[in-house]
Amino acid sequence: MDEKVIQNTHCRLCKSPKLTQFLDLGDQPPANAFLAEKDFAREEKFPLRVAICEMCGFVQLAHVVHPDILFRAYVYVSSTSPIFVRHFEGYAQDVAETVGGMKDALAVDIGSNDGILLRPFQALGARVLGIDPAVAIAEKATEEGVETWPEYFGEELAKRILKERGAAKSITANNVFAHIHDLDNILKGVEALLSDDGVFVIEAPDLIVLLRDKLFDTVYHEHVSYISIRPLLPFFSSHGLRIFDVKDVESHGGSLRIFACHEKGRYATTERLAARIKKEEDLRTQEPETYQAFAKEVDGIKTELTRMLCDLRKDGKRVAGYGAPAKGNTLLNYFGIGPELVEYIVDDSPFKQGLFTPGTHIPVTSSSALQEKTPDHLLILAWNYAEPIMKKCEPYHAKGMQFIVPLPSPRIVE
Ligand SMILES: [Zn+2]
Repeated sequence: MDEKVIQNTHCRLCKSPKLTQFLDLGDQPPANAFLAEKDFAREEKFPLRVAICEMCGFVQLAHVVHPDILFRAYVYVSSTSPIFVRHFEGYAQDVAETVGGMKDALAVDIGSNDGILLRPFQALGARVLGIDPAVAIAEKATEEGVETWPEYFGEELAKRILKERGAAKSITANNVFAHIHDLDNILKGVEALLSDDGVFVIEAPDLIVLLRDKLFDTVYHEHVSYISIRPLLPFFSSHGLRIFDVKDVESHGGSLRIFACHEKGRYATTERLAARIKKEEDLRTQEPETYQAFAKEVDGIKTELTRMLCDLRKDGKRVAGYGAPAKGNTLLNYFGIGPELVEYIVDDSPFKQGLFTPGTHIPVTSSSALQEKTPDHLLILAWNYAEPIMKKCEPYHAKGMQFIVPLPSPRIVE
């Protein structure tokens, strides 16, 4: 793809042209594109619309932004968070137990970031190779002992890895499978590189959780797909692969860990997978009507939250935000919340401090701002960390500052 953005005309999985749009979040800049004031005029926006395939029920964005715009300069470095480190240690353990040990076997991680998952694989005795297009992060990971190639994974690269390193016993893709437009190329690569007894493991946010908790803010340009199991089954099968297990995991409010192997691989299909398929049927996750109802609920949240903030402003109250994650930007942009309603946003990442939120141009600062200009209300945009944030801000709360949690329905915590 050469253009900056293309319209997604055919289902990513079954290739049907019958994509029905159900949620239009408007034109938005990439959700991680924090910027300096001098760059406001140059900011680019792209359509953010979600559709469902009428044939297979796969939920996907109606437009795809070029991955170089989204990922090449990625600054998010995951190992900084101890919660993530523990999560990935458990993840590597889970994969190793599934395959019966990883000692001396090759573990390849797609979208490996700073090596957060491959490090625990190393500790289990595996040989590791990371693949990540973010050049600076790949370089740093390699320097720190996790060899990482600054590339996009696909069939061609898989063949190169196979030639140089042999077959992989585990191939993992965390929060990256849902980021990739050309999934055929990914599965062709996996099919080529995976050893006969190997497993391919995907972790991605669960579409059922998105529907249940109204997490429309997890929609942004990076997330071109929203994962449920049923549409994936025939797609994997068409590439000689078979999904044999799926587990619920905590990350990002609720994710799926999906296990696949070669069609004739030695892994038996689990009860868990059957139960999940049944659950999707019961919740009608392949029906467009389910999503039309969801979009209506999202608009209800929009009305409620913006009214709440406008009323507070009218009463002369000062509102600040806590957390500047990508999802916060989807919410702010869609709801049209700018610096006139939210004065500033506190974020602990030094990469974001001193910059402004994409699209809405709210200044991002360190938490010292809360001390200097304590707001009356604090809008928690990183809702998945609401508990630790409220704990951390308890001294301000004790002095009268109130918290606003926006989802699943806006509420003030007094
Ligand atoms: Zn489809």
